[in-house]
Amino acid sequence: MTLTRVVLLGPPGAGKGTQAKQIIDKLCLVHLSTGDILRDEVSRETELGMTAKGVMDRGELVPDRLIIDMIRGRIEEAAESGFLLDGFPRTTAQAEALSEFATIDVVLNITLPREEVIRRLTGRRVCRGCGKIYNLTFNLAEGETTCAACGGELYQRNDDEMEVIANRYDVYEKSTAPLIEFYEELGILRALDGSLGSERVFSEIIDILTA
Ligand code: AMP
Repeated sequence: MTLTRVVLLGPPGAGKGTQAKQIIDKLCLVHLSTGDILRDEVSRETELGMTAKGVMDRGELVPDRLIIDMIRGRIEEAAESGFLLDGFPRTTAQAEALSEFATIDVVLNITLPREEVIRRLTGRRVCRGCGKIYNLTFNLAEGETTCAACGGELYQRNDDEMEVIANRYDVYEKSTAPLIEFYEELGILRALDGSLGSERVFSEIIDILTA
């Protein structure tokens, strides 16, 4: 039996986005990334986007109520086909709200030490066209500005600058890391070592989801 209502947990830079893209392709789940949805709201200059932009640029968290209202309908819609939550929940209040409108089968917690988070995030580049994620440490030559998959332009996220990265990690430790215990107590947490590399992590995830 395949587990289809999945949460990806872990610090920024642990590889959630990279794993998410591969998992949804393989298992046909709906990818719900609150970060991607918010970046789209920012680029369309919607009311939510305007409110979120400053908060995101500082590496802080958008208020729970706004996030929950933004994501709730999408989760309910995807419940039957299955979903992969990436970047949500990020606080205990969000996790408690989620438990009221969805059942979660498994929470995949990808771990990565702080120094490695900082190294990876400073080297991260994202394609404006297809969203593919690259890293100067693994798969991108210094100075390369074009996506090998679609030819789109590669850019560095505003919040992937050094000061903001450090703040995002601190926010993760304070607000999001407590969710590890929250889901451990529910008996649905599975841990993955993000430093093992994306192929190994992906294969372990598929084993967990399809066991
Ligand atoms: P991400 O792409 O997941 O790293 O998210 C980028 C930024 O969007 C975060 O640093 C937050 O400012 C905001 N954000 C994304 N998801 C959430 C969430 N669940 N709760 C609050 N803020 C969020």
